Amino acid sequence: MILLKSPVEIEMMREAGRVTAVALRLVGEAVRPGVTTKALDVIAEEYIRSQGATPAFLGYHGFPATLCTSVNEQVVHGIPGNRALKEGDILSVDCGAIVDGYFGDSAMTFPVGTVSAEAQALMDATQRSLVAGIATMRPNMRLYDIGSAVQQVAEGAGFSVVREYVGHGIGRSMHEEPQVPNFGQAGRGAQLKPGMVFAVEPMINAGGYETRSLDDGWTVVTADGSLSAHFEHTIAVTEDGPEILTVE
Ligand code: MG
Ligand code: MG
Repeated sequence: MILLKSPVEIEMMREAGRVTAVALRLVGEAVRPGVTTKALDVIAEEYIRSQGATPAFLGYHGFPATLCTSVNEQVVHGIPGNRALKEGDILSVDCGAIVDGYFGDSAMTFPVGTVSAEAQALMDATQRSLVAGIATMRPNMRLYDIGSAVQQVAEGAGFSVVREYVGHGIGRSMHEEPQVPNFGQAGRGAQLKPGMVFAVEPMINAGGYETRSLDDGWTVVTADGSLSAHFEHTIAVTEDGPEILTVE
């Protein structure tokens, strides 16, 4: 069942979204060659706690950090640690915060210094695919309209859409029904209604869409070692169209 949020609940989710968005911006401002992913994690955790909020990922199914930090061929769920970023890396940062029981969830991929033209094109296409997916989130549209729009942009740019990990409903839990794939046939799936809130999160690979997990039990990488990018927002369907909640 897809839970509908009341206007009061969406107001609370705006605050969770704001905290998440600011944390992500602060992390992005600190991304540079030489910084460790653990140092970025500390920045996010300190900001989230300073707002009286709680990091959403820390302890989630045993995840050990506030951020997921995924470098280059890492797709999602990378664990912050002593790895120092290098010029030319791309870093996907996924961040979530809980305010008064409501969740925000957002991700961005940041360039570390100057990156290759391919890396820049991948990041740009992933961000554009998210924008295109969000634009479909109006009443009476269908769930798979979102993924279809994402897929068209990503594949149109020559990249591939990860299949094994998808977006999700979000509210008083980080993961609610429905699953929100980043691919599929337009016109299919549940009808969108005001009060639905989804985290839409294209994970786009420069090479093939296949992924595998590393032995740490968390980090997901591209099977062919190609670069991957990840952008995510938490979005409410309203009478007037989509409202992005993970903004400042
Ligand atoms: Mg996320
Ligand atoms: Mg998510």
